[in-house]
Amino acid sequence: MSDYPFERHLDHLALARDCAALGARLRTIEILTGLSPRTIVCLLRADRRIPIRGRPPNTPEWYHSGTLLDRSEASIFVSGYRRLRDLGFQAAPALPGAFRHYLAVCRSHPRISFDRAFDLARQLDGIWEVAEPGLALHTCGSCSSRYLTVVGAASRSGSDCPFCKLKARYFHDPRVQVHFPSAPLPDLSCLEWSLILRTRLDEQAA
Ligand SMILES: [Zn+2]
Repeated sequence: MSDYPFERHLDHLALARDCAALGARLRTIEILTGLSPRTIVCLLRADRRIPIRGRPPNTPEWYHSGTLLDRSEASIFVSGYRRLRDLGFQAAPALPGAFRHYLAVCRSHPRISFDRAFDLARQLDGIWEVAEPGLALHTCGSCSSRYLTVVGAASRSGSDCPFCKLKARYFHDPRVQVHFPSAPLPDLSCLEWSLILRTRLDEQAA
């Protein structure tokens, strides 16, 4: 964000448009940008491409009662958000960037809405009307994945890690396989033709 008031206001408008396009509710945009609800509603009504969404889901405990897939995807989002923050990005601009990355990774059936992602980020950093962090990222001692856990929770190698649990269930649970499909193997006949072509080109170049 710029230090100059005019440019900072333009940054806030761009951020509001970005967040609304990703599905953010009015209150979430208001907290992220500092723009008044009236301004946001006027802009969204004038734009017409993006619907105005009402109250965000007010259930900060949802993460703890979520399914294994919910917790895995939440950890994927928060890991991306944390990486951007560690690179020096401010929290508000980092949020839509991390959410887009999450959508790209979990593109088949994303389970985390933008408002949920906002809630996770503020529980992690203790910002945006949250007094202190309630969630933390922990690195699994078994698979080295980073996953969300409650602040101060004792680390037990592998026992709380959603990715270790997914790995154990993967070959027995079709829902997990559908959700995290394995990458298709390359067509070996194409690979053979590619190697032949490359050899011929190398021979011609010699
Ligand atoms: Zn693990």
